[in-house]
Amino acid sequence: MKLDITPVLSGKVRKMPFSYEIDADGGDMPLPPDGVALTSPIRVNGTISDSGSCLHLVLTANVDYKAECDRCADEINGNAETSLERLVGEEGFVSDENADDYFIAVDGALDLDFDVAEELMLAFPSRMLCREDCRGVCPDCGVNLNRESCDCAEKRGREVDPRWQGLMGLLEQDNDENKK
Ligand SMILES: [Zn+2]
Ligand SMILES: [Zn+2]
Repeated sequence: MKLDITPVLSGKVRKMPFSYEIDADGGDMPLPPDGVALTSPIRVNGTISDSGSCLHLVLTANVDYKAECDRCADEINGNAETSLERLVGEEGFVSDENADDYFIAVDGALDLDFDVAEELMLAFPSRMLCREDCRGVCPDCGVNLNRESCDCAEKRGREVDPRWQGLMGLLEQDNDENKK
């Protein structure tokens, strides 16, 4: 969307709040990470303020998403959020070497959609977990260990807590001595 910022460019207002939504599926927008589906438009809230010497833009953007837990494959419904802070300059008044710090206004308007979406796509967690301590699924029988338990680990007999191993060694020694 083109955001008309002429009120603040012309000095009519010192502060211009704005909020709008970006259709994240539209055209050539940056894509979310693999396995993540966006379930809402991108919501943008920001303010442009005139400090006297320059224009500052700050905004936050967030979007709802759906994904699968990396460990147990349960559905996750989450919200990713990011914030951005840049200077605003008019086309022709910002030198190339400073361009990265600026949003450039063309004909009194800013087009933030791509930059905002790009920044937001970096805000997804690198590991998708339904909860921090997700126990995943049993590799043997496939039950979801968050909801059910199984005795596969016991059967396998190799998941003895290391803290108990020393104690079990002592018990065995005891038994051996009793036999003598
Ligand atoms: Zn999980
Ligand atoms: Zn199992």
